[in-house]
Amino acid sequence: MISHGQFERQVGSARRILVVAPHPDDETLGCGGLIAAAVARGSRVHTLFVTDGGASHPASPAWPRPRLAMVREREAEEALRLLGAGEQPRTFLRLPDAAMPATGSEEWTSARDRIADLIREFDPDLVVLPWRRDPHSDHRDSHTLVCEGLRAAGCAAPCLEYAIWLEKFGAPEDFPRDGEVEVVSLSIATQRSKKIEALMAHSTQLGAIEAEAPGGFVLDQETQARLTGPVESYFRPCM
Ligand SMILES: [Zn+2]
Repeated sequence: MISHGQFERQVGSARRILVVAPHPDDETLGCGGLIAAAVARGSRVHTLFVTDGGASHPASPAWPRPRLAMVREREAEEALRLLGAGEQPRTFLRLPDAAMPATGSEEWTSARDRIADLIREFDPDLVVLPWRRDPHSDHRDSHTLVCEGLRAAGCAAPCLEYAIWLEKFGAPEDFPRDGEVEVVSLSIATQRSKKIEALMAHSTQLGAIEAEAPGGFVLDQETQARLTGPVESYFRPCM
C-alpha cells in the first residue's frame, strides 16, 4: 500500500510517459489531468491512439468511417494542444475501431511490433493504459496489445490502468480482484479546466454531429461528469 503522497511523487518523477488511448477521447477522459500536469513540469508524454475511432456513427452516410476517423484525429490533436501537449509526440496506429485484429493474426503482430519499436525508441518510465477488463473490447484488446509490445521490447516500466466504462457497464468479474491492484488517485484540481476544455474538442462524441448522423454515439452527461472531476483514479497493479 502506498500513500497518496508517494503515488503523486511516483507520477511526478516520471520523465517519459507513454499514454495509451484505445480511441481518440480516452486520453482526455482517462488521463487528461495527468498529461497536463506531466507536460507542465517538463516531462515528455507520448500518446498512442490505438484505433481510428471511425465506428462511433456507423449508420451515417454523411459521416462514413474515413471522414469520422480523419476528424477524430484532428479532435485528438486539438485536445492534446489544449492539455499543453501540442508539441509532444503522438502515434496514430489507426486500427479499425470496434474491429481490432484478432490476437496473433498478421495485423495484430504487425501492430504489436510497431508498438514495441515505439517503446524501444521512447523508452517510457511510466505507462498509462486502459484497464485490463474494461467492458469495451477495444479497451481490453488495447491493454493486451500494449502489454505484448512492452514484453517484446523488454520494457519493465511501471504501469497505471484507467477504467472508462467499468463503473457504468462492468459485470462483477470485471472489477479488480483482491490483491490484484491498488486504487490510487491523482489530484488534478489545477488541470481540471484544461481537461474539460480538451474534452470539448472531441465534439463528434458529444452530440455535435447528431443531426447529420442520428443514432450515433453520444458521450452521456453522467460519464462526462464522472470522468472530469477534481481527481483521476488509477489502478496500480500489485507486484
Ligand atoms: Zn474508448
